[in-house]
Amino acid sequence: MTRLHWFRNDLRIHDNPALYAACEDPTKPVAAIYLRAPEQWRAHDWSERKCRLLDQQLLDLKSSLAGLNIPLLIFTVTDFDAQRNLLLTLCRELHADSLFFNEEYAVNERRRDQLLTQALQSTGVNVRRFRDQSILPVGSVLTNDDKPYSVFSPFKRNWQAQAQKLDLRPLPKPVARQQSWQEIPASLKTDVPKAQADPLWPAGESRALDRLASFCDERVMRYHSDRDYPATDGTSALSPYLALGILSGRQCLAMALQAMSETPSASHETSTWINELIWRDFYIHILYHNPSVSRHKAYRPETDQLQWRGEGPLFNAWCEARTGIPIVDAAMRQLLKTGWMHNRLRMVAAMFLTKNLFVDWRLGERFFMQHLVDGYLPANNGGWQWSASTGTDAAPYFRVFNPVSQSQKFDPMAKFIRQWMPEISRRDDKSIHQPLSTPLPGIDYPTAIVDLKTSRKEAIENFKALSGQAG
Ligand SMILES: Cc1cc2nc3c(=O)[nH]c(=O)nc-3n(C[C@H](O)[C@H](O)[C@H](O)COP(=O)(O)OP(=O)(O)OC[C@H]3O[C@@H](n4cnc5c(N)ncnc54)[C@H](O)[C@@H]3O)c2cc1C
Repeated sequence: MTRLHWFRNDLRIHDNPALYAACEDPTKPVAAIYLRAPEQWRAHDWSERKCRLLDQQLLDLKSSLAGLNIPLLIFTVTDFDAQRNLLLTLCRELHADSLFFNEEYAVNERRRDQLLTQALQSTGVNVRRFRDQSILPVGSVLTNDDKPYSVFSPFKRNWQAQAQKLDLRPLPKPVARQQSWQEIPASLKTDVPKAQADPLWPAGESRALDRLASFCDERVMRYHSDRDYPATDGTSALSPYLALGILSGRQCLAMALQAMSETPSASHETSTWINELIWRDFYIHILYHNPSVSRHKAYRPETDQLQWRGEGPLFNAWCEARTGIPIVDAAMRQLLKTGWMHNRLRMVAAMFLTKNLFVDWRLGERFFMQHLVDGYLPANNGGWQWSASTGTDAAPYFRVFNPVSQSQKFDPMAKFIRQWMPEISRRDDKSIHQPLSTPLPGIDYPTAIVDLKTSRKEAIENFKALSGQAG
């Protein structure tokens, strides 16, 4: 009998718990499956860049698995129902007695897995599920009353206490099968994805591991000091690889801990980076315990009474990087051109949209998802709800970033603004952060679409007026 591993958000062979378990006995044949669902990806607002990286990664995965005598069978299907039906057929046609996969936590994915598990078990196929997305498994970081945390700091303390006791070392790649795979039945029409490689975000597990290693060797020791400056190459830019599971959180943690042991003097810097990995875990746990957030509901339901603005000229100006606030527009151009935005600027752009323009955070969340190469529901939703003050442990509603002050503080020489906004690059270091007071002759750049002071005040008033938030 055969074992099947179903790849989903875990596109790697190293440190892959479900794949590793499927391959424990080298005498057993294993086949791997990936079910592309472009319509589903579109429905989930996945960006073109993310889909390209995924398709390219499948090719890399196929060749790494071939070296282990494991075929990767790639199919294209329409939706989750089609995935379920195809998996039932594959188990039958490939004489599989068990299906292995790592769990996913958004509502529809959970329902799909539940229905599939029931259907397969009724035909005698054993389903083995693993918890892999976060470093500490979802459901394992709970308060003393066995409740999920809603605030990051106590979550982090509990996380750290548990992490010290557990063996979190990444798993090696599975051992190769002793025999090559039998012929695949001709009735199974497999696919070869045709996406073009993206030079900015190259696929490949070993490339991603190299990026991680070089970040931990050379830059993690400056992370604490550099991470907030968008003109500096101060963060890892590993998010696209983590979002698709080309890398795991455990691999990042292990490499960071190794860097810490080799350079103890930089342990403060390195632990700041580990803190970000814990934020990632926090938001995955939030999504797991609060399925409503993946249905576009605010974590704090009372904030759903706010009369946010919908689509319209203000939202369009933000999307098109024409708000007249230089740092916001520079950030949005970085997103549109590269599929990635620096974390400090994600907060600035998101707060500007939700507080100064008072546009519904869900529109911003969706637009980010449609353009980010690292679009990842738990972190994107968490980041948006944090910025809009609707989420768990969110920014207090009265603490609204002033984008101009953020720009002066974190891009003091305006290097980032000049990189992305050549039309205003000749303004001096002081005035370049400010919106234009009047249009500049011959320059196609707008004056600010909103007054920062009055719009901030209005947003705070709107929040104050919500029941239970006064004061
Ligand atoms: C409005 C908004 C939207 C966001 N959308 C996403 C998203 O769709 N996908 C995504 O991966 N991150 C998102 N983030 C979190 C964060 O901005 C990115 O993870 C980070 O900028 C990625 O760059 P990096 O890999 O260089 O991060 P580093 O600073 O090197 O951090 C290492 C890793 O930790 C994780 N991480 C870092 N910061 C956070 C955070 N605040 N929350 C959760 N995980 C974090 C990421 O996986 C990241 O790759 C969002 C933040 C905000 C404020």
